[in-house]
Amino acid sequence: MFKTIDDLLADPHGIAGKPVLVREDLNVPMHDGVVSDDTRLLAAMPTLAELADHGAKVLVLAHFGRPDGKVDPALSLQPMAGALASVMGRHVGFLGAPDRHAVDILEPGSITVLENTRFYPGEKTNDPALAKQMASLADFYVNDAFSAAHRAHVSTEGLAHLLPAFAGRAMEAELKALEIALDQPEHPVAAVVGGSKVSSKLDVLTHLVGKVDHLIIGGGMANTFLAARGVDVGTSLCEHDLAETANAILDAADKANCTVHLPYDVVVAKTFAAHADHRTVNVHEVAADEMILDIGDAAVEALSDVLKTCRTLVWNGPLGAFEYPPFDRATVALARTAAALTREGTLVSVAGGGDTVAALNHAGVGDDFSYVSTAGGAFLEWMEGIELPGVKALHR
Ligand code: ADP
Ligand code: MG
Repeated sequence: MFKTIDDLLADPHGIAGKPVLVREDLNVPMHDGVVSDDTRLLAAMPTLAELADHGAKVLVLAHFGRPDGKVDPALSLQPMAGALASVMGRHVGFLGAPDRHAVDILEPGSITVLENTRFYPGEKTNDPALAKQMASLADFYVNDAFSAAHRAHVSTEGLAHLLPAFAGRAMEAELKALEIALDQPEHPVAAVVGGSKVSSKLDVLTHLVGKVDHLIIGGGMANTFLAARGVDVGTSLCEHDLAETANAILDAADKANCTVHLPYDVVVAKTFAAHADHRTVNVHEVAADEMILDIGDAAVEALSDVLKTCRTLVWNGPLGAFEYPPFDRATVALARTAAALTREGTLVSVAGGGDTVAALNHAGVGDDFSYVSTAGGAFLEWMEGIELPGVKALHR
């Protein structure tokens, strides 16, 4: 188990007046110093506010962009202090080159953003000297950035070995949700894996067959599986060279008692474009000049019935080319079924992935899933069964 802020607040000596380094994800889209999407700032807020309200000197660590170990004024986190301040409605300071003396004279209850961690060449190499120098600034370390936890950097991993380490509120929520979904889920468990390519999610598929009862394959990667089974997929996006791999995954699923669901009807078109002329056909009726852009209504209905028998769902990857209506139909329909089952309380639903989050929001159900992870790479590595270094370092 990992320690949380509850454990930190229970420290017999208290945290009032003490400096706490808090790793957040402030890697937000920013144009001309203006933040265009403040989702991550909002996610950071509870931890920062709670620690400051208990009198800690909160020192915020984060990376921004890819400065590659060099100081790049365009990637300074200084504007982020202002952005955080306006989201939080309280003063947020900035310290470019902090030392312990500068920290000592900060006010208890203050929040101070430190400079982009990736300005330091030692950050990405997890350099012990940099870790020691950073650790000397504070008495405690809180990691609240799940999305960076798949990297063993000083600010995400190294510090956890040098200071008493705790999970922040956002990290805690993410870890609890993921644990419920895949580490100790209620069975039956269904996984939806969609998206464009099998090659980008091979390790996810391989890991999931040993974990879940139903593996639902959609999106472009379903084409690769269909082709591997001898179906003619026309001009569909398809990785024909992965036929053997796809068949090996199907065999492994069979041995693990995991039922794999491939679509038996699909929506096809001759061009990859919104509102392209299309028809729904049995997978064996795709013409040589047609491509599969979504799964069909009959398949969606069957998959909805599968979800109704399940207690847990993990979802990564859209079922079709959802950016191009009407090829968003299957994704939207199955997402709404999952959302309804979640609201009714029969299903715990966890989803993640850049396009998946966009697709769920497009379906209007982003808030109805039990948990939606915006972590991207870290979420996928977690779905691959990899122990994330930043999380592992908290489990001590
Ligand atoms: P995520 O970001 O959630 O992990 P991916 O990046 O793997 O998801 O996949 C999303 C992309 O897959 C979308 O851009 C979507 O258009 C594409 N896609 C889904 N189904 C198909 C299909 N049948 N043919 C081509 N592209 C598809
Ligand atoms: Mg994507």
